[in-house]
Amino acid sequence: MSATVIAVTNQKGGVGKTTTAVNVAYCLAKAGKRVLIVDFDPQGNATSGLGIDKQSLKITVMDVVQNELPIKEAVQSVECHKNLFIIPATPQLANAEVELAKAERRFSRLKMALADTDDYDYVIIDSPPSLSLLTVNGLIAAHYILLPVQAEFYAMEGLGQLLETMQLIRKKLNPTLELLGVAVTMMDNRTTLGNQVHDEIIKHFPGKVFKTVIPRNVRLAEAPSHGLPVGAYDRWSKGARAYKALTKEVLSRAG
Ligand code: ADP
Ligand code: MG
Repeated sequence: MSATVIAVTNQKGGVGKTTTAVNVAYCLAKAGKRVLIVDFDPQGNATSGLGIDKQSLKITVMDVVQNELPIKEAVQSVECHKNLFIIPATPQLANAEVELAKAERRFSRLKMALADTDDYDYVIIDSPPSLSLLTVNGLIAAHYILLPVQAEFYAMEGLGQLLETMQLIRKKLNPTLELLGVAVTMMDNRTTLGNQVHDEIIKHFPGKVFKTVIPRNVRLAEAPSHGLPVGAYDRWSKGARAYKALTKEVLSRAG
């Protein structure tokens, strides 16, 4: 059986993609699944957030998409959990993207790379903050999109464009791509604005918004500097509990 592939995507930066990718992946591993994170953002935040020193890396996701290195040779284990693995990224991935733009089958490099995922139950792709070639590669490789939306005034901006891209990809290159769900992130429950935005998101994505809302929680922001998912850093924090609950919903929608 090959893995269920979930791309965590939103072309806006700072909405909680990496935080969601890392923490959902960790919770899936805690739930007994074998999970591979593909860091597909040249910023490599998922890589460093899981305690991997980017300076020391000899092999990264760039080798997989540019040089067609088998993923087995690029996968690293992650210290916090034996069932969690990552294909790391460094800023070099941005160069690879430029090269890739001229290459054959440039849209389906990641899909080809992920053809053999029998070793895993889930592959979680952390996408860059753009609708770039890398993001499109992620969407073509994925079964599902997990869309984090920050509970702030500009939350919905740009989402139309993302959904259009998704429709285009469904038509041409990946007909089975589905929106798994929308995760509202960085919610500040004390503000009226946060609640209004939450309501608006629900109206915009009927039936798709996860019941679990991720609160703004300082533990979530601290954990990456310790190289840990929040569940391994402070398991009883609000952030850790929220991601555990969100992961339960992910499992029930994409079990
Ligand atoms: P993206 O990957 O979409 O750019 P990140 O996941 O890196 O977004 O989040 C942006 C910043 O906000 C990071 O510094 C992260 O630690 C912090 N952050 C993310 N989610 C939360 C949250 N729920 N509460 C507090 N800080 C958060
Ligand atoms: Mg990120």
